[in-house]
Amino acid sequence: MESLIGLVNRIQRACTVLGDYGGGDNAFSSLWEALPTVAVVGGQSSGKSSVLESIVGRDFLPRGSGIVTRRPLVLQLHKTEDGSQEYAEFLHLPKRRFTDFSVVRKEIQDETDRITGKTKQISPVPIHLSIYSPNVVNLTLIDLPGLTKVAIEGQPESIVQDIEAMVRTYVEKPNCIILAISPANQDIATSDAIKLAREVDPTGERTFGVLTKLDLMDKGTNALDVLEGRSYRLQHPWVGIVNRSQADINKNIDMIVARRKEREYFATSPDYGHLSNKMGSEYLAKLLSKHLESVIRARIPSITSLINKSIDELESEMDHLGRPIAVDAGAQLYTILELCRAFDKVFKEHLDGGRPGGDRIYGVFDNQLPAALRKLPFDRHLSQQNVRRVVSEADGYQPHLIAPEQGYRRLIESSLNYFRGPAEASADAVHFVLKELVRKSIAETQELRRFPSLQAELAAAANEALERFRNDSKKTVLRLVDMESSYLTVDFFRRLPQEVDNKGGNPASSTVDRYTEMHFRRIGSNVSSYVGMVSETLKNTIPKAVVHCQVREAKQSLLNYFYTQIGKKEGKQLSQLLDEDPALMERRLECAKRLELYKAARDEIDSVSWAR
Ligand code: GDP
Ligand code: MG
Repeated sequence: MESLIGLVNRIQRACTVLGDYGGGDNAFSSLWEALPTVAVVGGQSSGKSSVLESIVGRDFLPRGSGIVTRRPLVLQLHKTEDGSQEYAEFLHLPKRRFTDFSVVRKEIQDETDRITGKTKQISPVPIHLSIYSPNVVNLTLIDLPGLTKVAIEGQPESIVQDIEAMVRTYVEKPNCIILAISPANQDIATSDAIKLAREVDPTGERTFGVLTKLDLMDKGTNALDVLEGRSYRLQHPWVGIVNRSQADINKNIDMIVARRKEREYFATSPDYGHLSNKMGSEYLAKLLSKHLESVIRARIPSITSLINKSIDELESEMDHLGRPIAVDAGAQLYTILELCRAFDKVFKEHLDGGRPGGDRIYGVFDNQLPAALRKLPFDRHLSQQNVRRVVSEADGYQPHLIAPEQGYRRLIESSLNYFRGPAEASADAVHFVLKELVRKSIAETQELRRFPSLQAELAAAANEALERFRNDSKKTVLRLVDMESSYLTVDFFRRLPQEVDNKGGNPASSTVDRYTEMHFRRIGSNVSSYVGMVSETLKNTIPKAVVHCQVREAKQSLLNYFYTQIGKKEGKQLSQLLDEDPALMERRLECAKRLELYKAARDEIDSVSWAR
């Protein structure tokens, strides 16, 4: 069944487009790594690129002696419908379709040079090439630089280890199927491919042994010991190959012709005739494809669970990042209002309890205000001396006869004035608590996190509103104080004990001085207890006024003005309010793309699994 491999191929293709392919340290590369790939491994000039070409059936790889392949080439073969045009596409040149495969080869060379320079250096950065053709099987193959033994002129000493390390990163992945290429004209015991494959895959379950250059063996010798598994045993049968020689390539021998010649070679070979239906590049392609399919089939449950897990992770990250914002003004307005509501909810929780902070307002009424009232300098203001001064000034040239009406009024009025300070201070203190709660609520509103502009705008609007509430509150509390001065509680004075002379005392002992002293002290104490009574009243009424003007308003209409302003804004101004941190937008886009890929993959896998 071709569809399974095609499916994996499409997922891999999508992964590469997103930059999530093996080898990178991209956090998203795990899906790619869960999918099987085929990597071609072997010594330099063992025929790796030639084998790949025969599998594809097209000339498109740079080949020849010396180090030709200097960057990994991730080659994805996509089978298309019969009769459709064959073309190739590079990941680094999206949208450009290559139909001339000699241009593909040139581009591989150029792209290699772009990273490595025109040197003999290597680079682990892969080139991604996709081939769409009705004549290929669905496969992903990776061509790797050949393993070498010594650094040649122009190469750093470390190149031998570098190449091996690079090749190793590909073949050591448990999902990598190793196509181990060994030339038949060398002793298999010296094969670099088999040496490395044995290290990373000791049981040989994911290694396919490929013997090239059968045509170049010394006359009179053959490779039957290898091909029949007697020299080196692998779980999969060895496949012998005859690629085009350098002379064939120079003569531009066509691929189709080469394949026919290869078939003829095996069919007519006295040594390999009995194996001819299990030899050659076409057979190798089918063998690989079949194997790949069974591997994928076995992996489907784990791939599906990986995909589901990734989808869950991506969904929750998306939730965390917030969904993308709508583009039309109506929806944006709706979003902004939703965000304001979210903020408002948090703010109210702070005031009403559930979140801390609201209690600090009670602290203002319970501690700060009473303390401020207690600290008012009435002792000094109502000292006998001052009382005498104020009363005398009020009396003028004619001292009062019974009770100093004017003196009382002046003393009371001037005392009550002192209440203005604590009254205003209460409004200020509550204002600062509310302002702090606004700041906290903005910070605590998860939904707002992504919108720094809206945060700033909201804070400004809320603070402006709080400022208005404070002004109103101050006016109200001052009015409470003024009301106390405007009309005094008559009853209080009526109930005062009459100023009678010393009951039964010795009149002779009371001098005028003593009399006046007592008299003024009594006036002072009367005023003081009146002021004390007013203070008790204000201690209760100031909080009522402050809550009414500031707290209640903040709860009910903190953002009212903001709402009317928002309603008047144009689409562009709205989107400015909703502009996000660019890094966050980028990340969301990445997540969204992956989510789409993973979901599509899940759907495809579902449908393929059901089809079985
Ligand atoms: P790579 O370095 O492993 O990729 O090897 P290439 O595919 O570039 O091949 C190296 C050289 O060996 C080229 O000149 C090929 O034409 C030649 N070659 C590869 N396979 C065969 C083969 O089976 N028979 C013959 N006669 N030549 C081959
Ligand atoms: Mg090569």
